[in-house]
Amino acid sequence: MPGVQTHRDGDIAVLTLDNPPVNGFGLQQRRALIQALDAAAADAGVRGVVVTGAGKLFSGGADIREFGKPEMTASPHLLDVLQVAEECGKPVVAAINGTCMGGGLEFSLACHGRVALASAPIGLPEVKLGLLPGSGGTQRLPRALGLERALELIVSGDPQPAAALRDGALFDEVVDADVVGAACALARRLADAGSLPRLRERALADEGTAAQELLAQWRAQAARKYPRQPARLHAIDAVAASSGDFDAGMALERWLFFALLATPESHAMRHAFFAERAASHLRGVPEDTPVRPVRRVGVVGAGTMGGGIAMNFLNAGIDVVLVEAGQEALERGLATMRANYENSARRGRLSAQQVEQRLALLHPSLDYAALGQCDLIIEAVFEDLDVKREVFRRIDEVARDGAILASNTSTLDLDAIAAFTRRPGDVVGMHFFSPANVMKLLEVVRGKATAPDVLATVMRLARGIGKIAVVSGVCDGFIGNRMLEHYGRMAHFLVEEGASPQQVDRALETWGMAMGPFRMSDLAGNDIGWAIRKRRYVDKPGMRYSRLADRLCELGRFGQKTGAGWYRYEPGSREALPDPEVDAMIRQYRHDIGVTARAVTDREIVERCIYALVNEAARILQEGIAQRASDIDMVYLAGYGFPQWRGGPLLWADMQGSYMVARRMREFAAQPGADAAFWEPAPWLAQLAERGKGFHDA
Ligand code: NAD
Repeated sequence: MPGVQTHRDGDIAVLTLDNPPVNGFGLQQRRALIQALDAAAADAGVRGVVVTGAGKLFSGGADIREFGKPEMTASPHLLDVLQVAEECGKPVVAAINGTCMGGGLEFSLACHGRVALASAPIGLPEVKLGLLPGSGGTQRLPRALGLERALELIVSGDPQPAAALRDGALFDEVVDADVVGAACALARRLADAGSLPRLRERALADEGTAAQELLAQWRAQAARKYPRQPARLHAIDAVAASSGDFDAGMALERWLFFALLATPESHAMRHAFFAERAASHLRGVPEDTPVRPVRRVGVVGAGTMGGGIAMNFLNAGIDVVLVEAGQEALERGLATMRANYENSARRGRLSAQQVEQRLALLHPSLDYAALGQCDLIIEAVFEDLDVKREVFRRIDEVARDGAILASNTSTLDLDAIAAFTRRPGDVVGMHFFSPANVMKLLEVVRGKATAPDVLATVMRLARGIGKIAVVSGVCDGFIGNRMLEHYGRMAHFLVEEGASPQQVDRALETWGMAMGPFRMSDLAGNDIGWAIRKRRYVDKPGMRYSRLADRLCELGRFGQKTGAGWYRYEPGSREALPDPEVDAMIRQYRHDIGVTARAVTDREIVERCIYALVNEAARILQEGIAQRASDIDMVYLAGYGFPQWRGGPLLWADMQGSYMVARRMREFAAQPGADAAFWEPAPWLAQLAERGKGFHDA
């Protein structure tokens, strides 16, 4: 039961917010805090009040479990709680004992004094959900910290430790220990002085032209850095109002908050937030499934992926045994890892000492026996089923009982790999993305036999190394790459029909994708797609591909690594430059296949590429490869540069409406030369369209 515990420290009432996991201000908590404040106000033996948090947090702010539920907007509201504290009649001091975010910080700003632990993270992260602080944060924080520091916190949404916010009137004291003791002492001093300082009554220190210039700079920067995200600009508008009348500023903040709540961008960003949490709930794996301890990880293969995978665990302080087939490959892998770490050190992200500490956890070996004590062994050798068979046979021989055996395969059948061992229940896919030490996404591949506790362990571990894990069933390409193949196919057809690679990239980047498909392909290596297509021409002779990309590869234009792909690259540069040779090749190709180029609109480019993702996603849902629509969105948000503020391909489809998406696909199917079979809306989508439902309505 959420609540507030009250105890007395002499003449001070100490109220402890206790609502695990983050002491959020849910309805019960709001009620309990008002009651506790009222009781302290009425108690003649109490001269002051201190509010602190149970456990390691002060308060994470709103209780996200209430989002979208009636409790969220039920009385009393957070603003009421703030008012009760501010008008208590006795000094109320916030003792910020740990993380203090969003509504938690706004509550403390309404108190008469604030004492914080130096290490406590302090922040207003609302813009990350496409919102702004809606309980006075935009009005009180500038009065406490000054415009510039307040803008930093509010517009970035990133927390800072209390120690970095010592200057100004935000904190009366920043301490290294006994925050509650210091807060009680402050409450007594305020009571003695008969003083109840209120931030609402403080004038903003910086005003006039300098302030106007500062605000103009922030607006220009936000418009440039976050185009199409109204929250940042609205947040600046609200902060700007803090130079005037407090109540008028509060009214503007409220108005802007509700305006943002109704934007598609905020809807999408909140969807993304919940999608990330939903992804950890697995069908057939109860929440209380025990996990296996993972203290030592083995990685087999020290190539592109193996090295990056190993770094994830080293960064988390976990020992890694790295096994290679030959001395030279091992040394090459180790050198790359060291170079990566030293690069981070040069950029100031790691100290030289941290580099050595991390590398000291690494145990390279040429002997599989070294894997014997590992709790998890991840295979990252060549993508070849015969090689994997041999490697898994050897791992099976040396791994201890209960060790988890994982494969990083991108395309091979995990069930077949599991069958190479005597313990298929312990086998799981861990599909990292390149560069594996950087990319957030991890597809966890659930084989037919994968045991529930193996899945639970891998999901927990993924969080521990900072990954966003999404479970996929077994199929070629899993969720992400299986969809991407069709996105790429469409991009190629669009160029075949008349668009240029630059136009396709620009259209999708303007729409919000971090990188257009041709720039992305040049980065990943065009030869990868070529190899897949060669396989498809045999496996799936019915599937249509433009042969344009093959022609590019026949010229050896594999992308950045060869200095030329769909674009050309100056030595040492990653800037994609248009190349007349490619234009000529495209013209020649169209001539050879008898296509007359037509004008392609940017809208058609976006719709064909994104709807290609959507239709394949519908098939993936139908086959049960993905557990839920939001998992598919998460894969694209975390792994493919899909804009957060669009919420993922299926949220976008829902925003267009399933009926209109299916209708548009039928229009594409009817275009001359179209891939009509692909564009037939998948049965899952067709049914949604018929019932007027969205992917996320289930
Ligand atoms: P890579 O060629 O860079 O590295 C493979 C390494 O495995 C080589 O260093 C090789 O020496 C080593 N190796 C081969 N046989 C071995 C054996 N019997 N014992 C120990 N080591 C052995 O390949 P990569 O790009 O790192 O890919 C590895 C795996 O990861 C593949 O299954 C691939 O499909 C998958 N994957 C790759 C990417 C990517 O973008 N490169 C992304 C996701 C998954």
